Amino acid sequence: MKTKTEKEILLVALGGNALIRKGQVGTIEEQFQNLKMSIRQIARLSEEYKIIITHGNGPQVGNLLLQQESCNAVPKLPLEILVAQTQGQIGYMIESTLDSELRKMGVISQKSLVNLITYVVVDENDPAFQNPSKPVGPFYTEAKAATLPYPTRKTEKGYRRVVASPQPVTIIEKHEIVKLIEMDFIVICCGGGGIPVIKKGRTFTGVNAVIDKDLASAKLAEEVGVDILLIASDVDGAILRYGEPDQELLRIVTLDEITRYLAEGHFSPGSMGPKIEAAIQFIQGNGKRALITSIETIEESIAGKAGTEIVK
Ligand code: ADP
Ligand code: MG
Repeated sequence: MKTKTEKEILLVALGGNALIRKGQVGTIEEQFQNLKMSIRQIARLSEEYKIIITHGNGPQVGNLLLQQESCNAVPKLPLEILVAQTQGQIGYMIESTLDSELRKMGVISQKSLVNLITYVVVDENDPAFQNPSKPVGPFYTEAKAATLPYPTRKTEKGYRRVVASPQPVTIIEKHEIVKLIEMDFIVICCGGGGIPVIKKGRTFTGVNAVIDKDLASAKLAEEVGVDILLIASDVDGAILRYGEPDQELLRIVTLDEITRYLAEGHFSPGSMGPKIEAAIQFIQGNGKRALITSIETIEESIAGKAGTEIVK
């Protein structure tokens, strides 16, 4: 139980655009520059809240896949190793950017940061393994796709490898994360949805899959007792009739309403869909506030002035 004076825990799930904006190639300079937008706000919020940061890794893991497709001189690495690599790479970028923003504010002496390699357990019988649906990595021609040793699927811009996207069952490092938060560390974890593992007895085995980072964040939020879940992306929030001339940003929406809109197909699977599912799960559980907003308006959303809030 939290005492009255204790700070609330805020989990910010950063979307891919926190690092690479639409239309950019994503040089490392661009990625560091982009990160400042969200991280500066999180640095300010850390004065009022205990902070957990999770992040996506789509473009970064895609680039690693492309690099290894382009080179036969070294052995190929399985997907879970590439996810682990992106947790290190992006975690480092977030940590160092946050460190310098906190320094600018003059508060670094009271704050400790840690980036945690995170395993997330998935169920080997998850139906997602029978139906790999998540496109990852480079685009191929139909002829090239036919020669690849893994399943591919036709997408708008060409053929892509598809992998299973199973549900997160539990976050292995949850107890460590709780302890770190209690000690007032800012914790960066569950990068790219976490390293997917199957648990047999006391043994973990990595699997070729990717876990949606918003669903992993909701699971983490539940297991760690987060108060506020904020999902930051490249849109203003959850939008009805998205892309239509009469589209409408939802501001405050009840569980019943959002559940109906989800069933009506307003939110695309694999993008806004899992954000809505994550918010619903969080508010149906013990979560206090679930917010979906743009990375530009993280603070405004917390203040109730931007984005979508899902309420009971
Ligand atoms: P992230 O990296 O932040 O998870 P995603 O691409 O997975 O980004 O999800 C954000 C995208 O969801 C938006 O750029 C938008 O194109 C798409 N989207 C689909 N349906 C909706 C909707 N109803 N409202 C808002 N955005 C939507
Ligand atoms: Mg996404």
